[in-house]
Amino acid sequence: MNVSAILKDKGRAVVTATSGATLMQVAQDLAKRKIGAIVVVGDDGTVAGILSERDIIRVLAQHGPAILEKQVGEIMTRNVVTCSLADTLNDLMQKMTAGRFRHLPVVENGGLVGLVSIGDIVKFHIAEVELEASAMRDYISH
Ligand code: AMP
Repeated sequence: MNVSAILKDKGRAVVTATSGATLMQVAQDLAKRKIGAIVVVGDDGTVAGILSERDIIRVLAQHGPAILEKQVGEIMTRNVVTCSLADTLNDLMQKMTAGRFRHLPVVENGGLVGLVSIGDIVKFHIAEVELEASAMRDYISH
């Protein structure tokens, strides 16, 4: 199973923000949509950064609630690890484990085309394991 197959099932929509949005606006968007991270895009649509709920919690704990008026661009992670449509579930798990994060924007020809979260990976991994187990049961019983 690769990223292309995952996106065929879950769709390509990605929740994004611009670097000028405030942390408060992003926090409200994350809460409303029940998601854990937002991809920050530049004017040309390319990935400029990523901001997750962990970043918001970290700066809140360090600076207090006034930090929520700051702009996303000041807090976001700029060095974003991305994946491609050809990456496999294993590639994604390795990237997330090595980088200790739970979100991977999907980039194709320089443009953002999707996002895979650790929740998607768990879901598709379980489906793959169940398929293998059922094929094995069929093989044994025939
Ligand atoms: P997460 O586990 O996704 O909530 O993110 C944990 C930390 O890693 C936060 O500081 C995020 O900004 C950062 N982060 C999340 N996803 C990525 C990514 N794909 N590449 C680089 N950093 C990331």
